[in-house]
Amino acid sequence: MSRSALSHFLILSSSSPRFTSLSSRGASRGFSRVPPLGRRSFTPSGRDPRRFQCYCSVSVSEPADSETTSPSSARKRIVSGVQPTGSIHLGNYLGAIKNWIALQNSYETLFFIVDLHAITLPYETQQLAKATRDTAAIYLACGVDTSKASVFVQSHVRAHIELMWLLSSATPIGWLNRMIQFKEKSRKAGDENVGVALLTYPVLMASDILLYQSDFVPVGEDQKQHLELTRELAQRVNNLYGGRKWKKLGGRGGAIFKVPDPLIPPAGARIMSLTDGLSKMSKSAPSDQSRINLLDSKDAIANKIKRCKTDSYSGLEFDNPERPECNNLLSIYQLISGKTKEEVVQECLDMNWGIFKNLITDALIDHLHPIQVRYEEIISDPAYLDGVLAEGAARATEIADATLNNVYQAMGFLRR
Ligand code: ATP
Ligand code: MG
Repeated sequence: MSRSALSHFLILSSSSPRFTSLSSRGASRGFSRVPPLGRRSFTPSGRDPRRFQCYCSVSVSEPADSETTSPSSARKRIVSGVQPTGSIHLGNYLGAIKNWIALQNSYETLFFIVDLHAITLPYETQQLAKATRDTAAIYLACGVDTSKASVFVQSHVRAHIELMWLLSSATPIGWLNRMIQFKEKSRKAGDENVGVALLTYPVLMASDILLYQSDFVPVGEDQKQHLELTRELAQRVNNLYGGRKWKKLGGRGGAIFKVPDPLIPPAGARIMSLTDGLSKMSKSAPSDQSRINLLDSKDAIANKIKRCKTDSYSGLEFDNPERPECNNLLSIYQLISGKTKEEVVQECLDMNWGIFKNLITDALIDHLHPIQVRYEEIISDPAYLDGVLAEGAARATEIADATLNNVYQAMGFLRR
């Protein structure tokens, strides 16, 4: 099993892995080929996973259950998803989706559209289905290849909600009250608008991951705390219901869930807002000026970069805490252009904001244009998209139901 695709991720596990990040020059170059519709998969060209080298020691728990793993899962498994809560932006792309493309070559991958999470805050019922389809089409347009990865809609696999209920009974409420994202989002929404689901969202997220006995979960830094909760919950349920107790109930015994490790990319893990270098770029931020959406027109991109927040220092530099906007824009430019950090430093050291803004605008337009062309092709073929999602849900259901049946058994339920 090649670990090469993991080299640009931080793997946060209890065993404190060593890691040195390597720049992945070329791995983020734009796509140059637009395959015709009708093909089963949309794959980017010019990507060579061998460019990645692994400098990290990876700690992976033993497979929890040979019964829940299929023959093809001799490969390590990865799951990840994005909420259909609005327009997919550069943060989602650089922090999550773009990284999936390299991972799908070496791992068994399941990428889903987490629509059940999208209702945790007030939302437009008329928009949800469309946003779900759009998100699926963007995954494919960005290079998720359905001959390698399963793509599905979370609510199409009922086991997610069932397992969430079972896990809820084992989740101390204090764990949920500690979640930073709950505190931030509930403060913004105002107490009257905060539903219980915003608090219990991390239990659903744990169910999304644990159902698939996932080895790794690639996410942006904002999800680190939720991943930690998932790991703790997996261990807690394994202790409460697994092992000998499960065996006495006729089960296999041993661990019910595999304990997953988060993969956090060292660059792109936290893309910041264009209007405030200290807040993360978010779909739910009220101002559209704060983010570059993957489907933004050339004019919109140019306009947002023109108006984005900068500073009055001379020259441009990474990693100066006094200059969060500068660090953010240089990082975006680095990731979008596929250059190394050193190359960007050399190129931009003496630039003024006017020249740099033209440079990053052109780089963004060049990078996003082929994705936008492919998106249009995919979204205009609903039958193709429906087929992809149905196939993905069937595969996911097979894996998820096996785990769910084990949990019911281990928790002592009378089965049909
Ligand atoms: P919302 O504001 O509705 O929570 P979001 O922009 O945070 O939306 P999510 O759907 O919650 O997007 O997250 C999808 C994935 O994108 C997750 O893996 C998350 O870690 C990653 N992500 C979200 N925002 C950023 C960001 N600014 N930088 C890097 N990764 C991000
Ligand atoms: Mg979010």
